[in-house]
Amino acid sequence: MAPRVVPVPCLRDNYAYLVHAPGSREALVVDPSEAEPVLAALARESLTLSAVLCTHHHHDHVGGNEGLLAVFPGLTVVASAHDRGRVPCTTRTMNDGDVMTFAGLEARAIAVPGHTLGAVAYVIDDAVFTGDTMFVAGCGRLFEGTPAMMHESLSHKIARLPPETRVYCGHEYTQSNVRFALAVEPDNEALQALAERARAARERGEPTVPSTVAAEIQHNPFLRVAIPHVAARYGAADPVHVLGAMRAEKDDFR
Ligand code: ZN
Ligand code: FE
Repeated sequence: MAPRVVPVPCLRDNYAYLVHAPGSREALVVDPSEAEPVLAALARESLTLSAVLCTHHHHDHVGGNEGLLAVFPGLTVVASAHDRGRVPCTTRTMNDGDVMTFAGLEARAIAVPGHTLGAVAYVIDDAVFTGDTMFVAGCGRLFEGTPAMMHESLSHKIARLPPETRVYCGHEYTQSNVRFALAVEPDNEALQALAERARAARERGEPTVPSTVAAEIQHNPFLRVAIPHVAARYGAADPVHVLGAMRAEKDDFR
């Protein structure tokens, strides 16, 4: 059965996610930036915590691990095998394609290098947790990986999940991503509709997650690098080259 996912706003614009099977009181958390908001959300939802899944080693995704472990001493803390030693409190590591069960939920790890070399996304039933690899209408900066890696992770891994897969990303960056995406594709109607939905959601104080894989294919410029009118903007036909040029343009976009 599809899991219930509760976004937990952390720090300035991060999301941690509580995930649990309907009817179960046992939850896992993805990317706890800090412990306190996660503990408050667990209390509010009457859930206990049995596992932490970390998408990558950056502090704004793992900063709460120690505090959560202090409250739940038996906690399983999961990171990609590549991040062994740089995700605090790790108790188990996963490689690309590994499947493990936490809080009664089957989680599959998919390696998605680009933002960092150890970046991993977790697929749990019809939901994917993408960390800083893919955002709604955007992707993460290339801190450690190459454009080729990011292209492979986005277009050949995440975009090939079932179209109805719900996408939960690491940050609320949607509105600034949409501004850039509209500069790339001003006539994209899916993007124009997203701009309106995101504005309305943020005005109500609600998150813009989840998106879906199908929606990202329609409006995320970093998944659209092989489309001729997008590629033409960068004067290149090679999708990897287009992605690199697009990411570099976004780095300086205000
Ligand atoms: Zn990051
Ligand atoms: Fe981050």
